[in-house]
Amino acid sequence: MTREWQLVVGLEVHAQLLTRSKIFCGCPTTFGGEPNTHVCPVCLGMPGVLPALNRQVVEFAVRTGLALGCAIQEKSVFARKNYFYPDLPKGYQVSQYELPICVGGGVDLTLDGVERRVRLTRIHMEEDAGKNLHGVAADGSSGVDLNRAGVPLLEIVSEPDIRSIDEAVEYLKSLRAILMFLGVNDGNLEEGSFRCDANVSLMPVGSTVLGTRCELKNMNSFRFLRQAIEFEVRRQSEILEGGGRVVQETRLFDPQRGETRSMRSKEEAHDYRYFPEPDLPPVRVPAAWIEEVRRSLPELPRARAARYQRDLSLSAYDAGLLTADRETAEFFDASVRARGGGAESAKRIANLLTGEVARLANDAGAGTSRGKLTPEALAGVVRLTEAGTLGGPGIRQVLEELFRQGGDPAVVVASRGLAQVSDESAVEGACDAVLTAFPGEVERFRAGESKLLGFLVGQVMKGMKGKGNPAVVNAMLKRKLGA
Ligand code: ADP
Ligand code: MG
Ligand code: ZN
Repeated sequence: MTREWQLVVGLEVHAQLLTRSKIFCGCPTTFGGEPNTHVCPVCLGMPGVLPALNRQVVEFAVRTGLALGCAIQEKSVFARKNYFYPDLPKGYQVSQYELPICVGGGVDLTLDGVERRVRLTRIHMEEDAGKNLHGVAADGSSGVDLNRAGVPLLEIVSEPDIRSIDEAVEYLKSLRAILMFLGVNDGNLEEGSFRCDANVSLMPVGSTVLGTRCELKNMNSFRFLRQAIEFEVRRQSEILEGGGRVVQETRLFDPQRGETRSMRSKEEAHDYRYFPEPDLPPVRVPAAWIEEVRRSLPELPRARAARYQRDLSLSAYDAGLLTADRETAEFFDASVRARGGGAESAKRIANLLTGEVARLANDAGAGTSRGKLTPEALAGVVRLTEAGTLGGPGIRQVLEELFRQGGDPAVVVASRGLAQVSDESAVEGACDAVLTAFPGEVERFRAGESKLLGFLVGQVMKGMKGKGNPAVVNAMLKRKLGA
């Protein structure tokens, strides 16, 4: 970004809804499968068929709208968006236009410690298109796979409120986390179930008049989004500085070359000849239903993170890690409940979850976030630690065993002999042995080389195979050395 230009971004997100069946028919929404096996006359666009709206789609839209602070419209209308493309068998997409189901709302972000809100324009429901497959047939010709045709989507449109690339990425990450928390979307950018078009323009710094935008398509990772906007900023600023004008158009990001290319000139709404879908009645969402959905909303990531900081004195960083996904947040909450202690215990649970347990999960590979560890078992580990039964190396070993095999921490500690030794006479025996074995070091310590205490503690721990309670060992050695 040069000094003279202010970046302006508005994002349109398409999120596939996690319903079992498609939006207007009973076909499954499962990703993949042999081409054209999840299809029926309705989603193939045969003449004479009638769509029937999937109620779950509406509920997911309401849930999402409520979570994002939108006004839910009691009446909304499906419309036909007409365009011709091989992957669109009907020649139009059923979407919402003038009367979408949700309007307004926003996504709150914290960017470099500063609170920001990106407003939403609207959220509407629509059907996905199929997919063109090139060179798939034996003779090298192309085909169309309509398994995805009719899969329900939410289109979430932001206002042009975003002012930096970091903010665009943060917005997308927050929105994705919210949708995943709500259980309406799987957040998979790679498979295209969460995808985004970025509208990018520049205006002179200090101006309030937005410049001409380009719409960037096909960014299936946060990194690509970043690269595409960076490229576009360079391209547009060069045009503007050369005295030229940016042409409003749709551009495709090419990840291989790291650049955007013109795809087509921007179509206007009138090109689509929108009109109300005559085969579907207006969507009615009774106020009572909206309230029912509102009551079923889970606690969302930001609210949760704020609660962890406020009630459990966790750092913003830890609170952020623990609310990155719903599973982790719920595992943490359940562990804290099972432990029943105060903020101290919660902090210990947080440390183990974001430290040792995360490391074990990482080593084990994706999809095994907690292995066989349960919240009750984690709470048990913390209880044993607080009782002095478990110390550093023991904690690690117990967790590893619980992660791989599951079980009761107390039983694992007993059967594998992992308990920390706090017994005074056992510790005293080990200390005496070390004091006898290292007379030189003992003498130097007494002569003032105080850092040798660490060495002696280390020798005692070694003699006790790492199981000595460090606090007891320290106190015992100091007493014996008259320190
Ligand atoms: P379309 O349906 O043609 O894509 P919309 O009016 O729905 O057009 O706008 C799409 C997106 O473009 C919105 O997210 C909006 O915030 C964004 N947008 C509009 N004007 C600008 C601009 N000048 N610069 C950047 N983004 C913009
Ligand atoms: Mg658009
Ligand atoms: Zn179908």
